[in-house]
Amino acid sequence: MEPADIVLRHSERVTHVEHVPAREAVVEPWPEWVDPDVRAMYEAEGITELWGHQAEALHHIHQGRHTVVSTGTASGKSLAFQAPALTTLAAGRTGSGLQGNRMPSVLYLAPTKALAADQLRRLGTATDFARPATVDGDNSREERAWARDHANYLLTNPDTLHHTILPGHARWSRVLGGVSHVVIDECHHYRGVFGAHVAHVLRRLRRICAHYGADPVFVLSSATVAEPDVFAQRLTGLDVVAVTDDASPHAAQTIALWEPPLLPGFDADSQTPVRRAANTEAGELLTDLVLGRVRTLAFVRSRRGAETVAATAQRSLAEVDPELAARVATYRGGYLPEERRELERRLRDGDLLGLASTNALELGIDIAGLDAIISVGFPGTRAALRQQFGRAGRAGRDSLGILVARDEPLDTYLVHHPEALLGAQVEASVFDPDNPYVLGPHLAAAAHELPLTEADFELFGPRTAEGISALEDAELLRKRPAGWFWTKRERATDLADIRSSGGSPVQIVDAGTGRLIGTVDAGSADAAVHEGAVYVHQGEVHVVNEYDVDDGVAIVHREDPEYSTMARSVTEVTITDTERNKQWGDAAMSFGSVDVVTQVISYTKRSTTGAGMLGEELLDLPQRTLPTKAVWWTLSDDAVKKALSTADIPGAAHAAEHAAIGLLPLLATCDRWDIGGVSTALHSDTGTLTVFVYDGYPGGAGFAERGYELAQRWLTVTRDAINACECRSGCPSCVYSPKCGNGNEPLDKFGAVVLLDTLLAQSR
Ligand SMILES: [Zn+2]
Ligand SMILES: [Zn+2]
Repeated sequence: MEPADIVLRHSERVTHVEHVPAREAVVEPWPEWVDPDVRAMYEAEGITELWGHQAEALHHIHQGRHTVVSTGTASGKSLAFQAPALTTLAAGRTGSGLQGNRMPSVLYLAPTKALAADQLRRLGTATDFARPATVDGDNSREERAWARDHANYLLTNPDTLHHTILPGHARWSRVLGGVSHVVIDECHHYRGVFGAHVAHVLRRLRRICAHYGADPVFVLSSATVAEPDVFAQRLTGLDVVAVTDDASPHAAQTIALWEPPLLPGFDADSQTPVRRAANTEAGELLTDLVLGRVRTLAFVRSRRGAETVAATAQRSLAEVDPELAARVATYRGGYLPEERRELERRLRDGDLLGLASTNALELGIDIAGLDAIISVGFPGTRAALRQQFGRAGRAGRDSLGILVARDEPLDTYLVHHPEALLGAQVEASVFDPDNPYVLGPHLAAAAHELPLTEADFELFGPRTAEGISALEDAELLRKRPAGWFWTKRERATDLADIRSSGGSPVQIVDAGTGRLIGTVDAGSADAAVHEGAVYVHQGEVHVVNEYDVDDGVAIVHREDPEYSTMARSVTEVTITDTERNKQWGDAAMSFGSVDVVTQVISYTKRSTTGAGMLGEELLDLPQRTLPTKAVWWTLSDDAVKKALSTADIPGAAHAAEHAAIGLLPLLATCDRWDIGGVSTALHSDTGTLTVFVYDGYPGGAGFAERGYELAQRWLTVTRDAINACECRSGCPSCVYSPKCGNGNEPLDKFGAVVLLDTLLAQSR
């Protein structure tokens, strides 16, 4: 039986099927200028000719153009940057490839250490002229010294560039002064606030390279990113040409969208309908596929989820064919390289038929020979979903990609609107390099590296002068004749928290042993580890004895009280600056700066054994203020009152807010956890009904701005997602939110549709 037939039998759960036909390769010869040894290295692997997009990329890069290669998974993107880079290194043997008067070198940046390690393994000892070395937080002193003195192919990441290489540039000048190519692999990872930070790390890199006389060509690579030239230009600050015509061959693939059924007794007519859990559903799909001898990989969002999927399949298989149960495994992060290699081998050989994995696998393991992919829950972006599906496909065999919807609004919307998921365009990667909270610390770091002058203003963008004067006012920079200097003894780079951990994480300590068992981000600690919170760490249940806000420590003990806790909070938004505004009749859309003030005030206990709510406890925690960007909409009192009765207004606005947060990731590359919202029937700054959606990062991240720009489309899909849900009065698939500070009360599903209809009617 074909893999697709196994799945398509369940027609009542499959909401859409699409067949992607096989694609023939377009090939081109190797260009003459590629070094013969480099070409021989690839020819030894069987690459005797190039695919069209590789030849096109090589041409641009050879001409010295900054290039972004955006083609599918397994389309040979690495060759496109390696071959020109290695050719330049090879020329260094005879002295003809000198950059200025220095030996050429290559700088390769990956978003994770695992990906850099993977590249190192592939480069290995392939040539005698490339001396690759990884530089990251794991190096010994000796390794780092060797890299500084001898390597000519540095594999690193933005964090190490930011914390180590740029601040210590004098020690790395041999490499930095000779850089011919800067490679930015898997560049779609640089989005949101992280993207803005990386954009400035790259500007600092360009400045330091220029200081030592290097003028490298930037090559970016990503399986799928929308408007790759625009994105790459924003990230690097350079003009970049895009290569997007994928000419690699691809086997035919069937794509199926799958919605788990409502549980009996919790169906559409019940108060809160509940769907069958996506992980259980995926476990049974995996069972069916393994029984059909289909080699299947399931991508699951959490480690616990991956274990559930594998355990469900193993249990079901054990009843039918115990031998097959042993051919299903879980992949979790943290495996040793040998263990990973062993898993790769078992998958390749077909000994392993089913693997459930978190995304940890995506960037650190090399898998070929799969027939089917199950994505449990939309992975956040269409680009990521395509990458996951792209993992399947053996030569000459049709493959299968299945998306199993989780119980939340975006997943529900997507399985019922396949055109939004499988249509041509992937979402734009959004970030804002002009965020002053990001720019300021990088200007300080840049000044510490080399004094800033007015010649740097263009490089760092339109808000540079403003940023510098703020740093002067804070007495961090001082102007001297040669420019602005860093005045402090400590390192300026410590000001920029490029992974946005939001300050030092809170430490979680076991009361009995004093052992540190984990940490939690400062931003989520109040809600996660307040006194009395039930905290689950790697499947072990703890209760928090004490939470010290000032020291950032939570003391816990092992206990399973048979309830879970959920923090409740109050959040208020004040508008500090309305930057943009558009009037829609009686309604208005606005974008601007806000202060979001949040306070965790209590928590509720819910039985884990089915006994329902067990009560609420008050907490005494401080207010937290987040200055950020928001999009908000308002509707005049008259319009609201014509549409809804007074009692229904708060629930309608709240439900619309939740669903809008759930759907924004469709238009911007964010996660619903990156954004927050507040709705009110009467807001003191606007004097009317107002719904805010804000970026969850100081200074904003570009998501709310994207929502403002695409407001009509965003609110239309929000309305449609709520309306399409078959539940009676709201459920996790439409208007419930897992992170509501108000316990999902009040919510009015149909009121939300009426409210959004009223609003959208004004927009036409
Ligand atoms: Zn619903
Ligand atoms: Zn809420």
